[in-house]
Amino acid sequence: MPKTRILIVEDEESILLPLEDNLRLEGYEVSSAKDGLQGLSMAKDGNFDLIVLDIMLPKMDGFEVCKRLRQDKIATPILILTAKSQEVDKVLGLELGADDYVTKPFSPRELLARIKAILRRAQQTQQGVDVFRFGDVEVDFKKYEAKKAGNPIDLTALEFALLHFLIANSGQVVHRNKILDEIWGENVYIEPRTVDKHISLVRKKVEDDPQNPRFIVGVRGVGYKFVA
Ligand code: CA
Repeated sequence: MPKTRILIVEDEESILLPLEDNLRLEGYEVSSAKDGLQGLSMAKDGNFDLIVLDIMLPKMDGFEVCKRLRQDKIATPILILTAKSQEVDKVLGLELGADDYVTKPFSPRELLARIKAILRRAQQTQQGVDVFRFGDVEVDFKKYEAKKAGNPIDLTALEFALLHFLIANSGQVVHRNKILDEIWGENVYIEPRTVDKHISLVRKKVEDDPQNPRFIVGVRGVGYKFVA
């Protein structure tokens, strides 16, 4: 099996070097870029399995790198490194299409757990259900393509995984904590509002009326249910 390839875009050597070492010890093939422009061009050409992306970078910041990659339809999962809590709100608020974020300072174990969770769900999404249709939506989980009323819609790798998980459990209420464990990984601390935020992003893309969802139904205080 080919090695899993990870690109790290980070200008601070005190973070970059130990991170590179850690990931190599785990058996990943690691490349790195020290500014946003170089990171963007490597990410576009490199066919990576995952990108770890810092926000504060020389030449082009991580927000812009993330935005441009998604504009160019590059669906490689992105894990964002943020230094401040203000940036976290921006990451969530901008709907950049990032898959997860970790706040600095982070422990190597925490970061590794997140990385493994992202890679695991990217793999799972590629297995199992291939094409699924509901309403006027068609989702191809193998090709990472989705359409609504025949028009392409952009779902991030995380949104594909979330939808895949809900569909796999169709008709059952899936507890928010179960979604967290499944999508973000166990032993990882994520605020429950992150689940709600991503559910609301998926609804905006697939539901006719996201305020009154027909397919992704919320069960107050518990979680969500996919209704075909
Ligand atoms: Ca930085």
